[in-house]
Amino acid sequence: MSSIQDLGLSETYGAFIDNAFQPVDGPTFAALHSGTGEQIARIARCGAAEVDAAVQAAAKAFPAWRATAPEERSALLLKLAAAVEADQQRLASIDSVDIGRRLFETGLDHQFAISQYRYFAAAAITHEGFGRPIPGGYMVARREPYGVCGQIIPWNVPAIMAAFKIAPAIAAGNTVVLKPDENASLSTLELCRHIAKIFPPGVINIVPGFGEEAGAALTAHPGVAKLAFTGSSEVGRIISRAGAERLVPVSLELGGKSPNIIFPDIEDIDAVVDNAMFATLYCNGQSCLAGTRLFVHDAVYDAVMDRLVAGMERVKVGAALAPDTVLSNLVSPEQGERVMNYIGIGKAEGARLMTGGQRIAVEGQAHGHFIAPTVFEADNHMRIAQEEIFGPVLSVIRWKDHDRMIEEANGVRYGLAAGLYTSNLRNAWDTAERLQAGSVWINHYFNLASGSPFGGFKESGIGSEYCHETLNMYTHLKAVTIQTRVAAPWFAPKA
Ligand code: NAP
Ligand code: MG
Repeated sequence: MSSIQDLGLSETYGAFIDNAFQPVDGPTFAALHSGTGEQIARIARCGAAEVDAAVQAAAKAFPAWRATAPEERSALLLKLAAAVEADQQRLASIDSVDIGRRLFETGLDHQFAISQYRYFAAAAITHEGFGRPIPGGYMVARREPYGVCGQIIPWNVPAIMAAFKIAPAIAAGNTVVLKPDENASLSTLELCRHIAKIFPPGVINIVPGFGEEAGAALTAHPGVAKLAFTGSSEVGRIISRAGAERLVPVSLELGGKSPNIIFPDIEDIDAVVDNAMFATLYCNGQSCLAGTRLFVHDAVYDAVMDRLVAGMERVKVGAALAPDTVLSNLVSPEQGERVMNYIGIGKAEGARLMTGGQRIAVEGQAHGHFIAPTVFEADNHMRIAQEEIFGPVLSVIRWKDHDRMIEEANGVRYGLAAGLYTSNLRNAWDTAERLQAGSVWINHYFNLASGSPFGGFKESGIGSEYCHETLNMYTHLKAVTIQTRVAAPWFAPKA
C-alpha cells in the first residue's frame, strides 16, 4: 500500500453505533498523516449525546448478547480474527500513516490483536464458575457479565489496545462502548466495517473524540457498569475517581519506567545489547513497557556502553513506510516537544549524553518529529530515570552491589515490566522474585505470550489483561444455592 488513496479510508467518520456509522453533523477533528501533516480524514468529535446513544444501544443489545451460548460468542470472535487477518496489511498501513510507526511493527500489532480475538474465543468456552454440594442441596457460583463496559484506550498501539479491551469484554457476555485516542482512531473505526458484518447491532460501539469530552461522558454515564482504561497514570486517577463516584469496578493499565538489568555473567554481549536497544526503540520508544532504565554491571559496563552507542548510531531513522526504517517519527509534534524537553532536563540535571539528543530532519516528512536514538549515563534519582518520557531515550545506570541495584530497580512509582540477562538460573529466579513488576522477562525483552498475565504493580495499574484471568475482571460472581426441598429456616419466626 503505497498511497493514502489505496487505504480505503472514508473522508469522514461518525460514531459507530448499532453497527452503523452515524451521520456527522456536529464538530469534527482531523486525522493527520503523522509524517507529512496531510489531513487524511475528519472524525466526529463525539460528546455526551453520542456517548448516550452508544450506551443505550449497548444496553439494548446486552440481554440478548449475554444469553448467547459461549460457543456462539466464540465463533463470532474467530470470524473477527479471520476478517482482521485478511485485512491486516491495510489496517497496519493505516496505523503506520496515522501514528508514524513502521509497517513491520504495526503489522505485529495486528498479529497480537488477531491472537487476542482467538485466545478469548477459546477462553469464552472454558470460563467457568464453580460449585459444591451443601447439606440438602448444591451451591453454584456463576460468573455473570456486568453489562455495558466503557473502555478508553491510548494511541501508541491502537490495534492491540482495541483487541485487549473488546475481546475479553464481549467473550464474557458484556457489550461495549469504546473511545479510541484522538491521535489514532482510524484503524479502530475501520475495524467497525468487519464488526458490522459479524456481530449483532449494539454489541460493540465506538465513540471517537477527546478525553475530556467523549471520555469524560463515558466514565460518568449511569448506564456504564464497568470501566476499563489504558493510558497514563495521571488520567488513570481521573478514571478511578469517576468509577469511585458511581461505585463501578475499574481496571487500569497505566504507565511504566521499566528496569532492564545486565549481570556480569552474560555470555553474548551483542545479543544482550540488541535486546537493550529493542527495549528502548520498539514503538519509537512510545511503549508503556519500554525498558528505559538499563542497569549495567560495572564489570561489563564499558563493553556494553561501547556497543550500545555504536549500535544506536547505526539505527536507520526514516519515514514510517520506507522499507529500511528502524526508527520513525513520534506520534505528534507535541509528543516530539515533550521528548526534546526531557532531553534538556537530562542535560540540565547532569546526566552525560553519550549519543543522540537531537531532532533529525527526514525528507518529505516535515510534520514528523524524528529524534535520534538517545543514550544518557544517568543516576536512578534523576527525572529522566524516574519519569516516563515516551520517546527513544535510554538512561544507563552503573551498578556493583546486587541489593542496592534491586532497590534502585524498584525505586520508581511504576511497576509494569522488567528484563534481566544472566546465565545463572538461580540468580534469574531470585531476582525475578524481588522485582516489583507485572511482567519479568529473563534473557529477552517484550516477550508477550498470549495467555501470560499482563498488568502493572504500583502506579502501573490495577488488573491483568491478555490472560484467562481477564475474564474475571469482566464478570461478577453470583452465588446461587439450591435446596432439593424447602428447608426449615434457621429459626421459625412465628413459633
Ligand atoms: P492519556 O493521555 O492518559 O490518554 C489515554 C486515553 O484517555 C485517551 O483516549 C485520552 O483521550 C483519554 N482521556 C484523557 N483525559 C481523559 C478524561 N479526563 N476522561 C476520560 N478519558 C480521558 O495517555 P496517552 O498519552 O494517550 O498514552 C500514553 C500513556 O499510556 C503512557 O503513560 C503509557 O505508558 C500508557 N500505556 C499503558 C499501557 C499498558 O497496557 N499499561 C499500554 C499503552 C499505553 P484523548 O484522545 O483526548 O487523548
Ligand atoms: Mg491523547
